[in-house]
Amino acid sequence: MDKINFTVLTLFPELIESLLVNGMVGRAIKNNIISTNVINIRDFAFNRHNSVDDRPYGGGCGMVMQPEPLVAAIRNAKNSFPESKVILMSPQGTPFDQQRACELASAMQGLIFVCGRYEGIDERVISEFVDEEMSIGDYVMTGGELAAMVIMDSVIRLIPGVLGGEESAEMDSFRNGRLEHAHYTRPPVFAGTSVPDVLLSGNHKKIEDWRRASSLKRTFLKRPDLFEKDSCSNEEKQVLRQWHNELKKWCQKLEILVR
Ligand code: SAM
Repeated sequence: MDKINFTVLTLFPELIESLLVNGMVGRAIKNNIISTNVINIRDFAFNRHNSVDDRPYGGGCGMVMQPEPLVAAIRNAKNSFPESKVILMSPQGTPFDQQRACELASAMQGLIFVCGRYEGIDERVISEFVDEEMSIGDYVMTGGELAAMVIMDSVIRLIPGVLGGEESAEMDSFRNGRLEHAHYTRPPVFAGTSVPDVLLSGNHKKIEDWRRASSLKRTFLKRPDLFEKDSCSNEEKQVLRQWHNELKKWCQKLEILVR
């Protein structure tokens, strides 16, 4: 099977390097599961000043990335990986999420990330040379490098073989429209709080039930909007009904106390 390639076009290659030599991503590269390329857009500057930006037509503040060096960099990347998809990092792009990360990881198609700087890039590059614009959230950063790293990191960890045997993405938050359950490790008592007894019981069925309930409660408390996107299954409703009954009992006790 061919390795999936990730190429980043940037004016700050050193920002990307840290992602490529550390952690799971570094390991995936060492283990030949993925390949990566970082291309400095400035290497394609075509004037003697080596500049890659220019003033915007129509006036106004800020600079715009020139189309020529950027397109030369995209073409260079495409020469090596013709099937790769060109993704522009942009606050105006489609919001990136876990579902998109799963789609990109399973497509096994190479990705070329274009990192903008300044006020952004010339519109004609977007219309003619970019396949998709992606945003990592409704805020504006100074450049696309962090966005590219966020997307690469979350896609790469989903590629088969990247996470070690002990880790799994199956239970991850957002995977099934829910947040993941709470985690505990040793010691059994920390800061005056004990690990829930069931997790020490060795009873796998009960542990699984506890985790499902924990996941549902956390989703309800932290991200109730996720239930709107994806309604509850009958099994989930049963768990929530049980929790609702427990809460009702607590409320009755509270009512007595505050009377
Ligand atoms: N003037 C642009 C606008 O208001 O839409 C913002 C340009 S921003 C200062 C410079 C570059 O940072 C963008 O071209 C893009 O590559 C990157 N960037 C900034 N915020 C981003 C976000 N939320 N998601 C993805 N990329 C972003």
